[in-house]
Amino acid sequence: MASSAFPIEGGCACRAIRYRMTTAPMVVHACHCRWCQRETGASFALNAVIETDRVELIQGQPELVDTPSHSGKGQKIWRCPTCRIALWSHYAGGGETVRFVRVGTLDSPDAFPPDIHVFTASKQPWVQIPAGHKTFEEFYNAKEVWPPEAQARWKATRR
Ligand SMILES: [Zn+2]
Ligand SMILES: [Zn+2]
Repeated sequence: MASSAFPIEGGCACRAIRYRMTTAPMVVHACHCRWCQRETGASFALNAVIETDRVELIQGQPELVDTPSHSGKGQKIWRCPTCRIALWSHYAGGGETVRFVRVGTLDSPDAFPPDIHVFTASKQPWVQIPAGHKTFEEFYNAKEVWPPEAQARWKATRR
């Protein structure tokens, strides 16, 4: 995506929470695990993985809900306190410095197709993954999969 397209805004259903993503994400994940299917009530979760400081609140204050996750380490999901829509979450692996922004809450969600599909072992069979998309039955090693620029950005969040 052209960098001129940013910032891109998003928010919850009742509009109490509004936020902006200041740059493109490092990567976009479609997660087909059963946990994400349950949580979204759908077939997969679509997450834009981005540095926490590149997501700025414009309005409102999301509320933290500790939620069990596939890894057993839990997921910290931030939701609108009024309409309870999930806006983003933090996983144990990325910690507080990496946000998984729910692509469906962005005002232009069409602009963020997945780069990588994970946990396709539990993909719902009707979901057809387009040719050329990277897919993994479970997870993967970012060092083997991410472009160097994205790896450098990730590394910078580890400090
Ligand atoms: Zn809301
Ligand atoms: Zn998942």
